Amino acid sequence: MTIPFNRPFVVGKEFEYIQQAIAQSWLSGNGTFTKRCQTDLAARIGCDRALLTHSCTAALEMAAILAEIQPGDEVIMPSYTFVSTANAFVLRGGVPVFVDIRPETLNIDETLIEAAITPRTKAIVPVHYAGVGCEMNAILAIAQQHNLLVIEDAAQGFMASYQNRPLGSMGHLATLSFHETKNVISGEGGALLINDPRLTARAEIIWEKGTNRSQFFRGQVDKYTWVDIGSSYLPSEINAAFLWAQLEFAETITQTRLTLWQQYHQALADLENVGKLRRPRIPSDRQHNAHMYYILLSDLETRTALIQYLQQQGINSVFHYIPLHSAPAGKKFSRTSGELYYTDYLSERLLRLPLFPALTDLQVEQVINAIDQFFHS
Ligand SMILES: *Cc1c(COP(=O)(O)O)cnc(C)c1O
Repeated sequence: MTIPFNRPFVVGKEFEYIQQAIAQSWLSGNGTFTKRCQTDLAARIGCDRALLTHSCTAALEMAAILAEIQPGDEVIMPSYTFVSTANAFVLRGGVPVFVDIRPETLNIDETLIEAAITPRTKAIVPVHYAGVGCEMNAILAIAQQHNLLVIEDAAQGFMASYQNRPLGSMGHLATLSFHETKNVISGEGGALLINDPRLTARAEIIWEKGTNRSQFFRGQVDKYTWVDIGSSYLPSEINAAFLWAQLEFAETITQTRLTLWQQYHQALADLENVGKLRRPRIPSDRQHNAHMYYILLSDLETRTALIQYLQQQGINSVFHYIPLHSAPAGKKFSRTSGELYYTDYLSERLLRLPLFPALTDLQVEQVINAIDQFFHS
């Protein structure tokens, strides 16, 4: 028997809603299921507007257009993130400027941001790693002082909060992912959240291929036409119908994951106490969403050996990001600000354990026992 790292979770009503979409004879984007999802997301997060996209990558690209990134403009972000965080800005000619992460959360170290700001800086992109919020008060204050946009990469942060404010509600713009590896899914999928109402009208235009089709649908203009740059960022109604089933169960999905997360956390306390590993740290002013359970090991060799050992027991565990500054495209398109000590140090030591709603208590125990055995043999 093997325990996969992830198994996409299906709540059960996805088929029914897809059938309804088919019965309505509207399969392209921006139909009733899209609108339902968008209304629900905007209400949950409290943003001015939520626009579904076919991925978080697409939402980040929209954010880069809305931020009016010009060639040479700089965008401050962590190197310890997914490629799309950086690529979205590089596509507009922007230059990602990487700063180090905090050792407790692996989120951008807000105390290093000011030193990275130059006259070319346009935006800060905090990435809420593992669904644990970044130090948003400090980040928002720096952004305001230097007149910068804040774009939250909340790909992993749906249903989590920082000081009771939902992740995705604090930046001028924010992005979500519904990729099958995330908590709430639609296969491929995402959303752009617009918190600054000044950006909403243009966001709708960019979303609809650079046309004012959304205004036309609302009867605000009598014909629609090409008014700006844009692309095809809408998901089909089939994807939106699938997502709607998941959004209805978002609380249950999150609760189930949190229970499993807590099981790992309690059982691994002893190994942390004897210095074999470090467990995740959740600052007391934020609620996470159990997107990930990771452990930090003492060195790369131990991690490699543990991955192998778990694999022999039929357990699939995986490491995470290769820091972007050390990747070939990262070297070509971006620069670093200061030393990225914790980025390099922690990325080599982090190991993610299986975590998905269908994981059983017994399977969690098996994983924990296997880790115990590894350290005691
Ligand atoms: C998953 C992820 C993305 C990309 O999401 P897609 O929906 O697959 O495009 C971007 N940023 C972060 C931090 C992610 O975890």
